[in-house]
Amino acid sequence: MNSRKNSGDYFGSLVFNESTMRDYIPETSLGVWKECVKKHTVLPEKIAADIADGMKRWALEQGATHYTHWFQPLTGETAEKHEGFLIPSGQDGFRMEFSSKELIKGEPDASSFPSGGLRSTFEARGYSAWDPTSYAFIKDKVLCIPTVFCSYSGEVLDKKTPLLRSGEALNRQAVRILRLLGDESTGSVTVNVGAEQEYFLLRKEQFMKREDLRLCGRTLFGADAPKKQELDDHYYGAIKPEVTAFMQDLNDELWKLGICAKTEHNEVAPAQYEMAPFFTNANLANDQNQLTMEIMKRVAEKHDLVCLLSEKPFAGINGSGKHVNWSISTDTGENLFSPGRTPADNTRFLLFFAAFLKGVDEYYELLRSSAAYAGNDNRLGGQEAPPAIISVFIGSELEAVIDAIISEHPYDGGENAALAVGGDVLLQIARDNTDRNRTSPLAFTGNKFEFRMVGSSQSIASPVAYLNTIMAQELKEAADELESAGATQETITALIRRMLKEHRRIVFNGNGYDASWVEEAARRGLKNLKNTAQTIPEYASEKNIRLLTENGIYTRKEIESRGAIRLEKYCSIITIEARTLIEMVRKGILGSVSAYLASLSDAFGFEKKQKEEIGRLGDHLYCVLEQLEADVKKLDLCEDEAARLSLCSDVLTADMKAVRAVIDPLEKRIDSRFWPYPDYTELLFAI
Ligand code: ADP
Ligand code: MG
Repeated sequence: MNSRKNSGDYFGSLVFNESTMRDYIPETSLGVWKECVKKHTVLPEKIAADIADGMKRWALEQGATHYTHWFQPLTGETAEKHEGFLIPSGQDGFRMEFSSKELIKGEPDASSFPSGGLRSTFEARGYSAWDPTSYAFIKDKVLCIPTVFCSYSGEVLDKKTPLLRSGEALNRQAVRILRLLGDESTGSVTVNVGAEQEYFLLRKEQFMKREDLRLCGRTLFGADAPKKQELDDHYYGAIKPEVTAFMQDLNDELWKLGICAKTEHNEVAPAQYEMAPFFTNANLANDQNQLTMEIMKRVAEKHDLVCLLSEKPFAGINGSGKHVNWSISTDTGENLFSPGRTPADNTRFLLFFAAFLKGVDEYYELLRSSAAYAGNDNRLGGQEAPPAIISVFIGSELEAVIDAIISEHPYDGGENAALAVGGDVLLQIARDNTDRNRTSPLAFTGNKFEFRMVGSSQSIASPVAYLNTIMAQELKEAADELESAGATQETITALIRRMLKEHRRIVFNGNGYDASWVEEAARRGLKNLKNTAQTIPEYASEKNIRLLTENGIYTRKEIESRGAIRLEKYCSIITIEARTLIEMVRKGILGSVSAYLASLSDAFGFEKKQKEEIGRLGDHLYCVLEQLEADVKKLDLCEDEAARLSLCSDVLTADMKAVRAVIDPLEKRIDSRFWPYPDYTELLFAI
């Protein structure tokens, strides 16, 4: 007999998923749990006790010694605090204990997590509560229980809760609309997400030599390598064995955790790669993406590599994003963004599609904000990443369709022959006929939208939560209207037409990198929110507060606190970068410039020339460095947050740019034996 294991055999072996639960939990309890998850109702205590018991037995069999509530605070990372199962028992004995109480609720100290002023320091307690819709898993002998996290007084302090709430809001409104369209069989809808993850791999040894990489996750200076990505030889290139070894290990770890890592390839920039999992429901996809980022970093360590997740680690070459593929499907297996095969399906598709366009047009500032933070500022709007202006790419065929609907003209669909419904053109759209426009921040790709603005290091929870909320809001408005007007083919078609007509401006199929788009967008009245600072006042606007409170995602206080956290984090990151740059110049660069200058003699003409040139650059460097230092000192004098924000965003970033503008040419001129840091060639072409 062949005793070799198939590579897929261990898939999910570290996850307490449904099939594992079947072996450890009484059938009736499992049934109740499934109903509760499906209907979003509270789990009875007795069932929770059965699950806790089963979970414990399973975890102990897997060698787990501890458990933790695993949550996602507003840092965007994950948090865990381990508790041993072990408790003393009898004279010298012990027993392993884990009850429903421990499964359901934890009380971690919340005082050191960002709360944006929600938590007063005297009340440090926070609550974590089990999320029974995501699976528990084992990591490093620790049973990790996905949980939500809130303050003692109930304010939400995490990223998971709004994601769950937004999914429920969308579910409510989508089912309402489906009923109005005559669908009586759909019980619920689910949001599906597939988050493609880009990353860089560097040699650890070289990474460790650069404080900017270690402290900021990106290089703050570095002259272009003679070769960048102009030969397009890395993208989809043969993967080097060392990288393959990393990817195989990564896949092993992810598969054990039930994460369906599916696609892997070399990305455009040298040393850049991508992993895409198979999509799953939004809550799980979010948990899994958080885990994926963590596992990527630790597997890299094992290979003496470093996995860099920051958005723009190197100037002059592509940065990393996280394309969030987003769709909605029914429990009967229908994708609601799938242009259907029947006239009724097409009506449904167009209604959801039009509602989405309307939502993006009305709330694009919120979507823009969801991907706005210091790291992503370095990436968005460059010539290789989506522009900072939000628009939706829908492909030429769909564009022709919506224009035909708006103008009430028949659509000449050519070979994708039209299906006429009620005198209107609603048609069969060939799947995947949409072009791949890489320059769009939000693209329709056949049966899903791809939000490409999201940065590689960030949690996908907020971007997905806002997509869900916007969609819920628009479906709610549509349902209200159809309920009062009566849902007939005429009223539905009129509604679709009006939504498309009024929000046509958000559609842009052209080249988003082209300078003319900036002007065109301005003509259309679409704001170009260039950086994080510009999104800060937009985020907690009255419009967004209304949207988020009315859909039950946040309270006003929670939104304001999130705005405050974003601002604070932005300023902290810029400040750390400024300080790091100052250190590197003072402790590393100035001395090497002097040493190199001293090593040159006056014996030869070329040496004199070099001395002159480098000396001049050195003087200039000192000058811009002093300016940066003086401006950093002003941080202490800022009277309020707004002043701090503008100092960081307008002044410090410009100062750092000025410093870099001198360091890079200096680096090009100094003998590498004197230059203290690995350069771009060494960093990017090491593997
Ligand atoms: P690309 O060519 O841009 O990499 P793919 O078609 O390979 O695009 O899909 C990328 C991601 O989109 C994967 O994570 C995939 O699982 C996910 N995806 C595919 N279909 C859907 C869907 N209906 N809803 C959400 N995500 C999806
Ligand atoms: Mg993609």
